[in-house]
Amino acid sequence: MNLAIVGSGYVGLVTGTCFAEVGHRVICVDNDLKKVHSLQDGHIPIYEPGLEELVKKNVAAGRLSFTTSIGDAVAASTVIFIAVPTPPQPDGSVDLSFVEGVAREIAVHLTGEYRIVVDKSTVPVKTGERVAQTIKRYKPDADIDVVSNPEFLREGSAVADLMNPDRIVIGVSSDRAIEPMKEVYTPFNAPIMITDLNSAELIKHASNSFLALKISYINAVAAICEASGANIELVADGMGADKRIGRAFLNAGIGYGGSCFPKDLSAFIRISEELGYNFRLLKEVEEINQDQKDRFLKKIRESLWVLRHKKIGVLGLAFKGNTDDVRSSVAITVVKALLAEGAEVKAYDPKGMEKAQALIPEAKLVATAEEVADGADAVLVLTEWTDFKSLDWLGIKKRMLSPLLFDGRNLLNPEEMRSLGFTYTSVGR
Ligand code: NAD
Repeated sequence: MNLAIVGSGYVGLVTGTCFAEVGHRVICVDNDLKKVHSLQDGHIPIYEPGLEELVKKNVAAGRLSFTTSIGDAVAASTVIFIAVPTPPQPDGSVDLSFVEGVAREIAVHLTGEYRIVVDKSTVPVKTGERVAQTIKRYKPDADIDVVSNPEFLREGSAVADLMNPDRIVIGVSSDRAIEPMKEVYTPFNAPIMITDLNSAELIKHASNSFLALKISYINAVAAICEASGANIELVADGMGADKRIGRAFLNAGIGYGGSCFPKDLSAFIRISEELGYNFRLLKEVEEINQDQKDRFLKKIRESLWVLRHKKIGVLGLAFKGNTDDVRSSVAITVVKALLAEGAEVKAYDPKGMEKAQALIPEAKLVATAEEVADGADAVLVLTEWTDFKSLDWLGIKKRMLSPLLFDGRNLLNPEEMRSLGFTYTSVGR
């Protein structure tokens, strides 16, 4: 099929590439001229395992192209996916101006042929209805259906997630859109769930909020483990072995961050409020998440006493492992807090340094993990990069002024680190 993706970021670029990989012809649109030129030149603006090879392969096969022109994409494609940002506003509600703007632009370019406009961005319930109204307002005779098709990919494994999805959710307001949407997704061999528009939109916010809830739940249990001398990992393993609970998302740490969970949770709280429901449970999830960072910083202060002029080495800036994305990264929040208290921070991340630099200009970013330890009063692990597990930790200890190691992601083995001579602190263990 001929498909267009408007917005070529973490979601749009990976989705478009995977659609091309299964045989569709895909035009990816972006209004960032620099991004489109660099994609046309074969440079991939984000790090996502396996993506670069797939982009190159599908561009060479003539199935994937990049443009700044929504008009060209609308003219050539039966199905047009919207994958633009839906950032939070100061009050927690969603800024829908990108989605609305794209809907209007699509309307301008419709010529009377049937088109399906798909919301892939994460949007509040009832947005699909609004998108349809908007297109009809600017092109009253438009022959369109609007579909909600939320995306569940995880950054860091986005290609694998897209190629092997757990399920595909397709929310429709008319049966006419069902067959073409099934045709888009049949090559992925995943269960396809057809729902109404509003339910599909809610599935996304309800899912992300539930995953955030699991993280805050285990973090709250980790606090009880610390107070009682129990071990959160054993507790999580014991809980997770129960199929009704599951082990995923029961990893204690310094809390969730990233471009999705914090904004989707606050959006869901706001949406619920607007619909007359006070989602107190999710407000508590947010508070616990905030507490996790504060509890971690408190542990550092308790050990180091005064932070001013202390040299702190930081391993990890991305919001999770295997990505270069530093948006709403807890690691960045922690580094900012340390800098604000006068600490001198040296940091390293395998992929996230370029994007982090602008957010923490006072921190010194170094080229290797080992360098953060030079003369350090403490080293912190803030992102769960598996590479950090196999560092030469004895060598790192020798470079440090004092052997304080704070593991905010429970990445390292406590006994091993203590046997190397570290004063090792983690979360709930
Ligand atoms: P992103 O910022 O990485 O990408 C968005 C892209 O849209 C950017 O390249 C931007 O230049 C482009 N854009 C903005 N306005 C445009 C316009 N008018 N015309 C054309 N292009 C335009 O964002 P993202 O992380 O890909 O997220 C996109 C949406 O998908 C959001 O709603 C997000 O919540 C949702 N989502 C994200 C993830 C994730 O892991 N990143 C997962 C599932 C869903």
